[in-house]
Amino acid sequence: MAPRYLFLEDGAHPGSWPLTADLVWRQESEVWSKNHPIMRKLLLFFCLFTIVTAYSQGLQSPEQYLGYKIGTRYTRHHRIVDYFRAVAQAKPDMVKLVKYGETNEGRELVLAFISDPANMAKLESIRSNNMKLAGLDADKSAGSTDNAPGIVWLSYNVHGNETSSSEAALLTLYALVDPANNQTKEWLKNTVVVMDPCINPDGRDRYVNWFNSVVGKQYNAEPISREHIEPWPGGRSNHYNFDLNRDWAWQTQVESRQRVKQYNAWMPQVHVDFHEQGINEPYYFAPAANPFHEVITPWQKDFQELIGRNNAKYFDQNGWLFFTKERFDLLYPSYGDTYPIYNGAIGMTFEQGGGPRGGLGVLKADGDTLTLLDRATHHYTTGLSTIETASRNKQKLLEEYRKYFEDSRNAKNAEYKGYVLTSKDENKIKAVTRLLDQNGIAYGTISNKTFKGLNFNTGKEESYTDEGYHVAISAYQPKSVMAKVLMEPKTLVNDSNTYDITAWSVPYAYGVTGYAVKEKLEVANNWTAKTAVTAISSTYGALIPYGSFSSAKIIAWLLQKNVKVRFAEKPFSYNGKTYDRGTLIVLRTGNPANWNELVNQAAQKFEVQPVAVPTGFMDKGADFGSPDVKVIVPIKVAMLTGDQVSSLGAGEVWHYFEQQLEYPVTLINAADLGRANLKNFQVLILPDGSYRTLNDKSSSDKLKDFVRNGGKIIAVDGAVAAMAGGDWGLKLREDKSEDKGDYINVRKYADRDGQYLSGTIPGAIYKLELDNTHPLGFGYPDFYFTLKQDAGVYEFLKDGWNVGIMKKDSYVTGFTGIKLKGKLKDGMIFGVQDLGGGSIVYFDEDPLFRNFWENGKLLFANAVFFVGQ
Ligand SMILES: [Zn+2]
Repeated sequence: MAPRYLFLEDGAHPGSWPLTADLVWRQESEVWSKNHPIMRKLLLFFCLFTIVTAYSQGLQSPEQYLGYKIGTRYTRHHRIVDYFRAVAQAKPDMVKLVKYGETNEGRELVLAFISDPANMAKLESIRSNNMKLAGLDADKSAGSTDNAPGIVWLSYNVHGNETSSSEAALLTLYALVDPANNQTKEWLKNTVVVMDPCINPDGRDRYVNWFNSVVGKQYNAEPISREHIEPWPGGRSNHYNFDLNRDWAWQTQVESRQRVKQYNAWMPQVHVDFHEQGINEPYYFAPAANPFHEVITPWQKDFQELIGRNNAKYFDQNGWLFFTKERFDLLYPSYGDTYPIYNGAIGMTFEQGGGPRGGLGVLKADGDTLTLLDRATHHYTTGLSTIETASRNKQKLLEEYRKYFEDSRNAKNAEYKGYVLTSKDENKIKAVTRLLDQNGIAYGTISNKTFKGLNFNTGKEESYTDEGYHVAISAYQPKSVMAKVLMEPKTLVNDSNTYDITAWSVPYAYGVTGYAVKEKLEVANNWTAKTAVTAISSTYGALIPYGSFSSAKIIAWLLQKNVKVRFAEKPFSYNGKTYDRGTLIVLRTGNPANWNELVNQAAQKFEVQPVAVPTGFMDKGADFGSPDVKVIVPIKVAMLTGDQVSSLGAGEVWHYFEQQLEYPVTLINAADLGRANLKNFQVLILPDGSYRTLNDKSSSDKLKDFVRNGGKIIAVDGAVAAMAGGDWGLKLREDKSEDKGDYINVRKYADRDGQYLSGTIPGAIYKLELDNTHPLGFGYPDFYFTLKQDAGVYEFLKDGWNVGIMKKDSYVTGFTGIKLKGKLKDGMIFGVQDLGGGSIVYFDEDPLFRNFWENGKLLFANAVFFVGQ
């Protein structure tokens, strides 16, 4: 991990970047010439000649540098970086290129800082002044708006197969530094432009390399031609098939973590996220659509309109089509527009028609051909137009920015003046502090614990009860809005026509008890982890408490060291202390000689304190030799993937195993199920998907045989629905509450959107009753907050275990269509069906959704390691 401000410490050439051959040569020859005075004049002349030549040839347009006109072929990611680097070298007084990280596949992530030479010479003081304006600098002096430039941040190609924007980035960079361009020269006097030419290089190259491999000598504009139909999993997502435009706040992905760290070190006033939509759509730019989150200020809305009108001016001049105020809402906080908005910027999404169906040229429904050149030109135009608008309004932009953060520090409009999150498991609190750190939200501890607040678990105003560990967040801080958006118990939704989930509150997602408090809390800025794990020495065995995902990681780690891990199916007590169901037990017997050492290593690594036990005789409950203590047999896990599986769903499971649980998983294409030898595996995961293979009797029988012979299937979301469509004994609960009025089918055409919405649930939070005496529920209280994203619930399993169920009043927060409100009750959401020697775990709702629902990770581990043992 690079030091935080690496790019600001090393001057024009950050350490990891090689000097150009030209510069090296000049330095060496200077030394040499000093030692040979006779040669000095000749060398000086030669040096000057070289420099002059280098400069006159140095700055090249994208076409000159790449050898083709932008839009006539695709530029692979490394060539984009090459061009940015070449421009930075040719114009070092105007452009500084910084490598801020790498992707999973090892591609470079870079930022270019572009401004006029006077600003570039004091870039670090511009940055720190900007942070002072927000109150986010370590130095708490006020900062100045007068001599400071505005900061405009342009992010390209977050969706890898929405490719035109990175091509536009090449054109935009050149326009900003082109000596013949007097307009941009003027704008850059009071503006620093930050360009991220490609947020998602792995996705982009996945698309571009594929496209280049299938396109003919000429592109084919027929939409049915194969070059317009991208194969699974598509280039939209990153390496692990995560949508990076849903990950800004959660930062589960390596690209997001590295980028948002840079973003939060700069905090721009304007941010544009460039996208593409369907080929038949025109261009979309701000102002955005409803629903708006209530925290969005009138100024943020007004400035969006100003930018939109300026964009429209150029589109009108060229006769190009566009739309505004529709479809792209501002609610879910993990987008490239909302995240900047909740951090005080004017955040916007710009959408060009095109995307993966665009190719180099495609025939649209209206008979025109849309080319990559058109698409890039439009993005280029809005990018420059945005910089122009920001530059023209720089002073107001900075003053409003300062005011935004002043209001934040005064907790203006904050209904809750603070939040306190508490848990008996410190690792859960640590997970919350990691999220807060990643978002630059201040937190600490409270010493006065006699106050009342809204208890998230009960939905009632109650006295605070500390469960052992806590973290407190005050609304009086620069990041007050972001803290509110992440924490608040209810998101105000003024309209449900959203692209995304409408509830995400952190206490629910992280499985901790939250209190939203209306009085001002005295929060001391002194949070540190309390638990320091100490090594144990035992002759017989060790106990490891099981209360958070960290304990599941210990199972994964120990199993791979060939350590047998047992767990208790019933509570027991030893030495005056009670241990819950799921407590891990590692014994000397049957284990490697260094078992005690391995337990200590795992405990240290995953920060869970083990307890030494010198005997298998427990004070109360089952002894270690009891049948109620189960051994986790070594588990080999496979999952289905490929084109019958949701790429996002498969990616979540893949990322979960590789990057979080750190346990091996074998990926099998669903189409290869017929020839897979399932006997080699104990667990088969069916991530969200459509699974037409399950319509095929032989595939379905093969899966049933796998289970009857002792295997375990874990089915998620669409896989559960596919099984319910077959003869697995699972049934969707029929809706009996449908309105059967006489005029039910008479509807107004103009109301069709609302009618559609009344039957949808884009993602709301429900409280499930959880049977925590079943191994699937170990480590949890008797309830679980889930996101509910589909409109169905399942009938209770007659001869299975209904572990997570929805009763009558389980709705908590988020949008649920009016027609669904009555239907979502009295059904199974998580269940386990025993079949022969094995079992099937049903997750109707996905516990690993985007990997941000931290509290679901243990549930999934329970399914893998505990169920059916
Ligand atoms: Zn997109």
